Amino acid sequence: NESRRRPHVVLLPTPGMGHVIPLADFAVRLATTHGFSATLLTFSNFDSPAQAAFLTSLPSDSVSSVSLPFISLSDLPPDSPIEVHLCALLARCLPLLRDAFLSFQNPAAAFVCDLFGSETLSLARELGVPGYIFFPSNLTMLTLALHLPRLDETTDVDIEDLPDPVRLPGCVAVRGTDFPDPFRKKSHPAYAQFIRIMSKYSDAAGILVNSFEDMEPEVLKAIREEEQVEAGRPPVYLVGPMVRSGSDETDESGCLEWLDRQPADSVLFVSFGSGGSLSTEQMQEMALGLEASGQRFLWVIRCPNDREKNAAFFTSGNKDDPSNYLPEGFLERTKDVGRVVPLWAPQVSVLAHPATGGFFSHCGWNSTLESTVHGVPMIAHPLYAEQRLNAVLLAEAVGIAIRPRTREPYGVVGREEIAAAAKELMQGEKGKALHRRTEELQEAASRALTPPAGSSYKALHGVAHKWKEGASQRVAKT
Ligand code: UDP
Repeated sequence: NESRRRPHVVLLPTPGMGHVIPLADFAVRLATTHGFSATLLTFSNFDSPAQAAFLTSLPSDSVSSVSLPFISLSDLPPDSPIEVHLCALLARCLPLLRDAFLSFQNPAAAFVCDLFGSETLSLARELGVPGYIFFPSNLTMLTLALHLPRLDETTDVDIEDLPDPVRLPGCVAVRGTDFPDPFRKKSHPAYAQFIRIMSKYSDAAGILVNSFEDMEPEVLKAIREEEQVEAGRPPVYLVGPMVRSGSDETDESGCLEWLDRQPADSVLFVSFGSGGSLSTEQMQEMALGLEASGQRFLWVIRCPNDREKNAAFFTSGNKDDPSNYLPEGFLERTKDVGRVVPLWAPQVSVLAHPATGGFFSHCGWNSTLESTVHGVPMIAHPLYAEQRLNAVLLAEAVGIAIRPRTREPYGVVGREEIAAAAKELMQGEKGKALHRRTEELQEAASRALTPPAGSSYKALHGVAHKWKEGASQRVAKT
């Protein structure tokens, strides 16, 4: 069997399509460009039809998947946030992970977990397998993760109550209210778990980041300086941008056909990731703001949820018709310029389409990279996880997004702000500047990935070489 002769990488993504997709893309890249076979370990607790369909679409001769047996989480409070469930799952999977490792006929040349999985690295080490973290976000977020345990020790107050913005080495200044959800308050149910997880990042043999040199050059410089002076700091490798090609996407809603009939760069794509839902009030404001902007739009709508902003994370929305929640007459009034798509759109194909000129986005990192590689500037509408931090980064440091104001830190963005941002991005001078900057980064991203000299290509090639050499040395010893 061909895949058995190839060096074997085992990958453990955190549940949720937003985590599984990037690690699967990474597995495919290792297989197709660097000659590995890969096994993705998933958690049967969260296996879903959408995930199963996605996994079967991967090249079966080189990338396979194994679902770890069910892990009981019944002792957790049922209303605890999703991060608590994810952290607990990763902490409890060690015996199952050990069994999985021992069952492979082709021993692992390397193990890769993602941002939640650092507590599994000690097992890899014990089994003599180099353990790496694939960090599916940006360098600013990684810097925050690496500094958080110390920040926690040295501040008595909650981060969101700090009077001044936090300025980490090389990073844009970030207000405490823009920190990722679980880090803002020490009383958050997942806060202590995150501190523990992040203090284990030092167990990694290296951290692979889905970004590229030109995205955050100052942060990279600071990270390199820290690597020189801090003993035991895992080396960071920028290996991105890794984004889906979109070749697997289908146009069930006909939105691509609709885009075919729109002028170039005229449509604002509005979508909030795989799990994002707006509140009832925000959905109304979004609709009325888009309408008032007079811009063409393509909007992926989900039923509103007033309790959780990531309500659709594992389900991609419920079965109710989301258009019932739009303002009275909205669809009729906007039918010449707008199109709504329930639940899901073929996002990469939409962003690649010549008619798409802007992206009103929740700033998830995959969405951000997909927008960047297609040269589409953004309006930042962060909802949860590290999206507020991404919004600050994109609007204030990278220069590819407008961020509309909210009246209070976690408040609703009003229709006027939405309309003004949409007009500015699609028609204004600032929009033009953001467009140019996004195109610069689009070119830089493509250069970074081009063999043999592109920085991201070279970085991954070097790591892959190290894994292969290590594996053949281990085989020679046995
Ligand atoms: N996505 C999509 N269609 C949708 C919504 C999301 O194809 O209607 C894809 C999107 O292209 C991206 C991923 O889902 O690859 C979302 O990842 P991201 O990191 O942006 O956000 P998350 O879902 O983790 O919040």
